[in-house]
Amino acid sequence: MPVILQSDRETQQRSGNTALKVQLRSVTKTYTNGSQALLNANLEVKQGEFLFITGPSGSGKTTLLKLLYAQELPTQGEVIVDGCNIASLQGDRLSLLRRQIGIVFQDYKLIAQRTVAENITFVLQAQGYTRKEIQRRLEPTLKLVGLLTKADCFPDQLSGGEQQRVSIARAIVGTPPLLLADEPTGNLDPDNSWQVMQILQKLNSFGATVIVTTHDEQLVRRCNHPVVQVCNGQLLRK
Ligand code: ADP
Repeated sequence: MPVILQSDRETQQRSGNTALKVQLRSVTKTYTNGSQALLNANLEVKQGEFLFITGPSGSGKTTLLKLLYAQELPTQGEVIVDGCNIASLQGDRLSLLRRQIGIVFQDYKLIAQRTVAENITFVLQAQGYTRKEIQRRLEPTLKLVGLLTKADCFPDQLSGGEQQRVSIARAIVGTPPLLLADEPTGNLDPDNSWQVMQILQKLNSFGATVIVTTHDEQLVRRCNHPVVQVCNGQLLRK
């Protein structure tokens, strides 16, 4: 890990905040239109674990991640992140928890009018980090994702793989102990997919809990991490 991110991790270790434990307890999620995504689902993800969530399209993988960062709330059951039932969190407490979670999307969600560096740092700016602290974090993060020379490029000047690496950099620049990646390789060719997976695995080796949804069976086999399959709304450890 780059020295600066390493020192963040050491600070987190000292405060016991290395990685967040995640639990779903008998979670059912039914959307208002009647679609049922999860049904009495249970899951425990240990601190520092790297977990794949697999299952066909429409099986509930994205819903599961949305429940973990409280974009959606369960219809029944409890979602526990870092010891908190997230349904009970509001306002500042919810914002604080969300700062502990980095999110990577399949479609990158970069801002076209902002440079790579700006895309990576704007969340830190919004969270009130000082200019100096932002600079301190930016370079090692760019280095980690292999984009040191692209800091001043705009997203449309980058390949798909590079854009996804920007989105990973944006997710990790605040050194969150939990990283959620929703089909991060869904739009990438095998080489770029592997590069992205190597970055995610490196972050995991630094102590972050990493949860990745994918339907790329080959990638799952190559990585050799635990797998949970979403099947009829339930979560089965394979
Ligand atoms: P996956 O990520 O595995 O493709 P999703 O979690 O996106 O699956 O979807 C699971 C089910 O929930 C699907 O039937 C989908 O149509 C439904 N669903 C997802 N999001 C919504 C939503 N916002 N409103 C209504 N139904 C939804």
